[in-house]
Amino acid sequence: MKDSMASVSQLSLLQQKLHSAKTALNELSEQKNQNQHALLQFISQLSLACKGQSIELDNKLAKLRHNLASIEHIEEVLPELVEVEHLVKQQYHYMMAQLEDGRANLTKVVRQLQRFDSLPDKLTKELAYFKQDLGKPFYTCWDYFPKVRSLVNFYNAILQAQLAQDDPLSVLPKHRQLAHELAQMVSEIEFRKDQRDQVLVIKDYLAGEIDIDGLIDAYQTVLTLLLENIALEKSASKEFLYVLNDALSAVREVVTDSYNNSQRSFQLKQQLNREINSRVDNVGEAVIDINDIDQLKSQVAEQLVSIRTALGRKEALEQREQALLRKSIETMRDELNELSKEASVYKERLFEQQKLTMLDSLTQLPNRAALEERMELEYRNYQRHKQPLWVAVADIDHFKAINDSFGHSTGDKTLQVISMALKNSLRDSEFVARYGGEEFVLLIPDVSATDIKHLLNRVREKVKNIPFKFKNQRITVTVSIGAAQLLDTEQINETFERADAALYQAKHESRDRVIIDA
Ligand code: GH3
Ligand code: MG
Ligand code: MG
Repeated sequence: MKDSMASVSQLSLLQQKLHSAKTALNELSEQKNQNQHALLQFISQLSLACKGQSIELDNKLAKLRHNLASIEHIEEVLPELVEVEHLVKQQYHYMMAQLEDGRANLTKVVRQLQRFDSLPDKLTKELAYFKQDLGKPFYTCWDYFPKVRSLVNFYNAILQAQLAQDDPLSVLPKHRQLAHELAQMVSEIEFRKDQRDQVLVIKDYLAGEIDIDGLIDAYQTVLTLLLENIALEKSASKEFLYVLNDALSAVREVVTDSYNNSQRSFQLKQQLNREINSRVDNVGEAVIDINDIDQLKSQVAEQLVSIRTALGRKEALEQREQALLRKSIETMRDELNELSKEASVYKERLFEQQKLTMLDSLTQLPNRAALEERMELEYRNYQRHKQPLWVAVADIDHFKAINDSFGHSTGDKTLQVISMALKNSLRDSEFVARYGGEEFVLLIPDVSATDIKHLLNRVREKVKNIPFKFKNQRITVTVSIGAAQLLDTEQINETFERADAALYQAKHESRDRVIIDA
């Protein structure tokens, strides 16, 4: 009985202990649940903070957050946590590599900025410090962003500094072309001796490295020189007109003088003649009236003396008149000589000028103005003699491609060479002008309808056989030609129109050919 009592009390003790152990366990479990909940919430929050690194990680984290909301035990998401952990590690390495890359790139950009000439000292120093600072590694994005911001500020400062320096405009191909054209023009113009030094300086400059300001200066100087020449030319013309005017008034004076003189001597001569006549009449009357022969003799002798005196006066008068006339003529001759000397100088100058204005400066072929003059001349000849006259228009094929592939100045040289070939393929009586761009007009008289095609094909072949070589590349350049014969019923311009239409047809048929308008 005593034993059983002891057992009961032991059991109840045990029960008590069990109860308190259970309570303690429950408390512990409760605590653990709370901790786990806090941990899960923390993980969830942390995952939100990790958002935005990579899509894959973002997706995984979203799924994890979703699962975390509904699990009882953290063990349930352990495999997912391992996966996320792996991704996070990967992302970390990726980001560190990116930061390192970014640092290297920033250093490179700084080095480029340092190459700018003439930066303000302060900026140069700041850039050097900045570069030194970039030597330290980046640990997070927050090391990176401020550096980028500083770099943008540097760019800004440099841009401002450069703009303030008024950076000279850059020289483009079109400016070089302008320089080339000016140089060509200058070499074709005949400048005065006292202008030549200035022109030489401009030529030298244009042949070297140009800049925009220099180019504008060069154009301005050339224009000033030309204006000077025009002004001089004008005053020379004026001088000539003055000389001409003086000479004419001198001649007029001489003529008036000699007219007045001859008027006066005419009156004197009339008076003398009257005198002589009356003497002769007297003699006649005396012969009739006087019977005494001695008286008659003495009367006649007297009259004869008077007549001789009158004749002597008349001769003297005539001699004086002669002398005056000779003097007038001499004066007039001197004046005219002077005038004709002056006129021939002037004519020569006009001729030179005319020659210049009638030639195309690039090819030295007659230009459009010269063509028009020649067309009129040929047309007049045609009307007089009715010999055949042909108008042909030639145009270089695909010329634009030459400019595009080898440059404008190669295009210019090509035009010069082809112009020479055209000129050399014609006889003296035939004529070729540069009509414009890469078009030429030929006037060919005295060739029959059967021969013209042969002649023009020879011209075409001549151009085709020029051995052009551009950039070590053998190039064949061809021309298309259209021609028409002047008809009795038309003006020469209409013949030109028909030749041009024939050229158009040649272009359409495949180029490199001659079409005669029938
Ligand atoms: P198509 O066979 O149809 O005649 O072709 P194309 O390229 O010759 O004809 P287009 O008329 O289209 O081009 C003519 C080119 O000639 C355009 C222009 O740039 C060039 N050109 C005109 N005058 C000159 C010049 O004085 N010098 C240079 N280099 N090129 C010129
Ligand atoms: Mg052409
Ligand atoms: Mg053309």
